[in-house]
Amino acid sequence: MGKNFTLPAPVAGCCSALRQAGYQAFPVGGCVRDLLLGRSPEDWDVTTSASPEEILACFPRAVLTGGAFGTVTVLTDGVSIEVTPFRTETGYSDGRHPDGVVFVSTLEEDLARRDFTVNAMALDEAGRVVDPFGGQADLARKLIRCVGDPDRRFSEDALRLLRALRFAAVRSMGIEEHTAAALHDCRSLMSRVATERIYAELTRLICGSDAGEVLRCYADVLAVPIPELAPLVGFDQRNPHHCHDAWGHTAAVVAAAPPEPVLRWAALFHDLGKPGCFTLDPEGVGHFYGHAPKSAELAAAVMDRLRFDNATRAEVLFLVAHHDDRLQPTERSVKRAIQDFGVRRLRLLMALFRADALGHSPDPARRRLEVCAALEALTDRLAGAGDRFTVRDLAVRGEDLLALGYRGPALGAALDALVEAVVFDSLENKKEALLDFLASR
Ligand code: ATP
Ligand code: MG
Repeated sequence: MGKNFTLPAPVAGCCSALRQAGYQAFPVGGCVRDLLLGRSPEDWDVTTSASPEEILACFPRAVLTGGAFGTVTVLTDGVSIEVTPFRTETGYSDGRHPDGVVFVSTLEEDLARRDFTVNAMALDEAGRVVDPFGGQADLARKLIRCVGDPDRRFSEDALRLLRALRFAAVRSMGIEEHTAAALHDCRSLMSRVATERIYAELTRLICGSDAGEVLRCYADVLAVPIPELAPLVGFDQRNPHHCHDAWGHTAAVVAAAPPEPVLRWAALFHDLGKPGCFTLDPEGVGHFYGHAPKSAELAAAVMDRLRFDNATRAEVLFLVAHHDDRLQPTERSVKRAIQDFGVRRLRLLMALFRADALGHSPDPARRRLEVCAALEALTDRLAGAGDRFTVRDLAVRGEDLLALGYRGPALGAALDALVEAVVFDSLENKKEALLDFLASR
């Protein structure tokens, strides 16, 4: 490629400050990869021959943020740059935390400890790419390849397993053969990865444009942190509506769902309960009665283990529990759904219905998609005025009903009846009409 890159002023300034003080300094890692791809890097890393103390002495606004790794965050206008001394890979006896940090004197040694060839490049003073492991060639072929022996590199740090799958899914990259074999061989090491990292990396992975392909190829790896997935793999649904096994269907639904964490997680979990609810009818056709609540129960267990935040957990549970609701494309049933779920959640649920439909055999998929389109059109029309209609929107207050002698539960029931009548029976939401309605009950 032989291109010379121009760096943003703060990054160039950071490197030249270190060089003027007599040290070597190179932008390195993900930012170089992204520049080569023509993308603007989200974060900037610089590697240097200076020690943490020496780095700190070069900048008026800098803080030691990387603890044992000696990473110093340099704050400049608009960009924060992580500056880390050249270091090498030390032992990871627990596959999770390095036993110690060993600073080294050359850029090449520092590049050798990085995870993948595409992440093991730096830019020299002239803006030329330093690429001792063939990162540019792998980038051109869109290949994730470990630097060095893949088994060893995954054993040193099991987070790399997830990073490899995440890059493949998010960046539409393939995984080089030996690296792929090592991913499968080393999958059990995933149990060493900290829960928060698993959750964060998996969220990015399943939101990737190639998530479906990664799920299909690496189910065994993903089933280490989420063993609940394993029974889906190869599970024959014995149902003419399904052209895939339960895992193939799940992967297709994940890929078809809009790339938002809540929807992609719900897609991943929506059929967890299927294997446990399988029955065969006398014609030999498979059914899964009651699988949605069972899936929700299993999803809750996974989310608790991976420590999902409460908001995501609640939303995913709602979607999984209702993914098999057969909403009729009628005004009444959509109004009911708006009242029960609210418009925002109903729209999420319909996005999941659509993705689920796309995971079926062509004919049932077409029929389901027609229902989805009708439901969406009805929702657009009925939700025009905003979210669900509640007691707060009524043209009467609790006091009005107190004045009529309503008390306690009877008062609540009367307000609910008014809401139902306004929404479903076109009762006019005017005080007089509402009070007349109550009087005539
Ligand atoms: P992104 O920023 O998109 O997550 P990235 O590759 O930039 O991707 P960072 O976490 O910013 O990831 O790490 C910066 C660089 O540090 C990487 O490009 C890679 O060279 C190195 N690196 C990060 N994590 C590891 C790891 N677990 N093992 C080895 N090298 C790593
Ligand atoms: Mg980065």
